Amino acid sequence: MLVSMRNTATREDVLRVVSTLQNRGIQAHVVREASRIVVVTNQSKIDGNDDKSLRLLPAVDSLINVTHRFKLASIQSRKQRTIVRAGDVEIGGETAVVIAGPCSVESREQLMAAARGVRDGGATMLRGGAYKPRTSPYEFQGLGAKGLKLLAEAREETGLPIVTEVMSTDDVEIVCEYADVLQVGARNMQNFALLRRLATVDKPVLLKRNPAATVEEWLLAAEYLLAGGNSNVILCERGIKGSGAETRNTFDIGAVALARQLTHLPVLADPSHATGRRDLVPALSRAALAAGADGLLLEVHPNPENALSDGAQSLNVAEFAKLMRGLAEPVRKVQVRAPAPLRHVSQRREIMHANQ
Ligand code: PEP
Ligand code: MN
Repeated sequence: MLVSMRNTATREDVLRVVSTLQNRGIQAHVVREASRIVVVTNQSKIDGNDDKSLRLLPAVDSLINVTHRFKLASIQSRKQRTIVRAGDVEIGGETAVVIAGPCSVESREQLMAAARGVRDGGATMLRGGAYKPRTSPYEFQGLGAKGLKLLAEAREETGLPIVTEVMSTDDVEIVCEYADVLQVGARNMQNFALLRRLATVDKPVLLKRNPAATVEEWLLAAEYLLAGGNSNVILCERGIKGSGAETRNTFDIGAVALARQLTHLPVLADPSHATGRRDLVPALSRAALAAGADGLLLEVHPNPENALSDGAQSLNVAEFAKLMRGLAEPVRKVQVRAPAPLRHVSQRREIMHANQ
């Protein structure tokens, strides 16, 4: 249950709600959002009498029952879907966004070619990792601060807002200086120290789903950001561990549709990491949008064969432009058979007799 309070509520008004709840043995957590103050409890509902006395307290706007464990992330907690703003881009609105760019920022030449390519292809935002979580410590680890500066240059030239990953609490400050959206990678989804720190920044966070996490665990990770005061959270499905040897991960398209049902937060899909194969990216991009995704996160490299990370799943610039043109086409037409006219009852009997 949430107690939603008017944003004009005084400190005393909020404390009165908190102590009323605590006197009944109910835990209360206060969150200040842009348009309201919310007192979050760990209860699904409150009983009738308590409900009445809480409603009558000054500055209380409404009581909202939330049955999910993720209280603020739950669709039950808000009337409208959340729209996250990054620069002049809206994520979670009417139209889907396409965030594209290289896996890693490798050099000025590489990043600028990718940035110009995705801009010309119609991307809404630019992605690129400066701090890279790599499975092997011997592989390219990213350019760090130098990569962030190159991303800022690319934004300056193309006008595209930037999404880039932050891996550690130590780097939050510097990444905030340069990025428009901070990505939390799949492997850091439950890095609670990082989530707590990112809850306090004034930049949106793109939270990728861990390949072994349930949708509930993913939304509870988002809850850390919301509960700490950052309402600008974007989710991204990027494939889960599967048994198939042919794809890097298994694209959990059901999770995209399910997350859209359970939360008001925007849900993106990343078919590049989900499959690890560039030939599958266009089909799964269309599938993700058909399942309701609010946008796509795609890896694009000017020369994928020589990429320092994730080349096999990266599209080149021409392939990206083709994919974008394909997204404008409707999904496959379906044969819809007209219902057969009902046969007269006696006629049906005759057929039955004939078959006996
Ligand atoms: C990435 O986006 O380049 C990345 C490392 O993704 P993930 O965290 O999903 O593996
Ligand atoms: Mn990658």
